[in-house]
Amino acid sequence: SAKQTGKNRYHFFDINQSKDIQSTHEVIESIRRGIEQDEFVLYYQPKVNMQTGTVIGCEALIRWQHPDRGLLLPGEFLPVINKHPISLVLGDWVINNALSQMTDWQTVDLDLPVSVNIDAYQLQDQNFVTKLSEALALHPTVPPHLLELEILETNGLADMMQVLATMQACIDIGVSFALDDFGTGFSSLTYLKRLPASMLKIDQSFVRDMLVDLDDRAIVMGVISLASAFHLEVIAEGVESIEHGSQLMSMGCMLAQGYGIARPMPAEDIPLWNIQWVPDAAWLN
Ligand code: C2E
Ligand code: MG
Ligand code: MG
Ligand code: MG
Repeated sequence: SAKQTGKNRYHFFDINQSKDIQSTHEVIESIRRGIEQDEFVLYYQPKVNMQTGTVIGCEALIRWQHPDRGLLLPGEFLPVINKHPISLVLGDWVINNALSQMTDWQTVDLDLPVSVNIDAYQLQDQNFVTKLSEALALHPTVPPHLLELEILETNGLADMMQVLATMQACIDIGVSFALDDFGTGFSSLTYLKRLPASMLKIDQSFVRDMLVDLDDRAIVMGVISLASAFHLEVIAEGVESIEHGSQLMSMGCMLAQGYGIARPMPAEDIPLWNIQWVPDAAWLN
């Protein structure tokens, strides 16, 4: 089946593939059913400060526990529902589920900041702020400042005025913003100037190759300088090794996320990981 062979598995929902053909309509119906059947799940990947050795938060990453296909990654189903109204339903589910997870973690005295990915289409939803307020009201013990929204696809923000208004309304509630995959959208600098974000996330493609590719290294350094010039925080994604971590720290980027620190994990593993994490000695000297 598609699940067993890595190659086919990736293309399962690619409607252009001759095998395992599923129309977009069928995928949307199965996602609708999946939401009803509680098949979606959020994994969490820690973010740390390499210099102080503290866990600064974690990012919620969606997975689909598909009854026949196993655990699917977002790249296997989100592109199919891009800009379809069902993506708003799923997006609302993600925010509500992350907030109830944060409420659960409070029972073990864990008040960890959580970031949730949202795409440009969600940000242009007229009801976004209302739904976010309602979600926060349903989880009254979670302080809104513990919630961060990572904006994706910033080159697809059509109605800039509306996006700005939406972001400002969210900030007024206490929620903050990060610009995800920073450096990959071709209008990044315009957005950097206009969007009220507090954090830049250096895209993992630049970080991964910065040890061997001088251009990527230059981009990483450039993003770190930009963040500093705009008084924003900066975090590196895709930190896979101690070498990456040390280099980033020497460039002035102390915040990191990546397989070298922790892979995304089920929510129930986070409290113990949070207690047990010890940064590599190389980062702390
Ligand atoms: P992202 O927001 O940039 O998230 C980081 C992705 O990189 C995650 O993949 C994570 O597992 C992976 N990653 C983390 N550290 C490393 C590393 O050291 N090396 C490598 N090679 N990869 C690393 P994942 O979970 O497959 O998510 C992919 C993308 O799907 C996310 O990229 C985000 O754009 C999107 N996404 C995930 N969850 C959601 C969601 O709830 N809503 C929306 N709209 N998009 C989501
Ligand atoms: Mg993200
Ligand atoms: Mg990213
Ligand atoms: Mg990414």
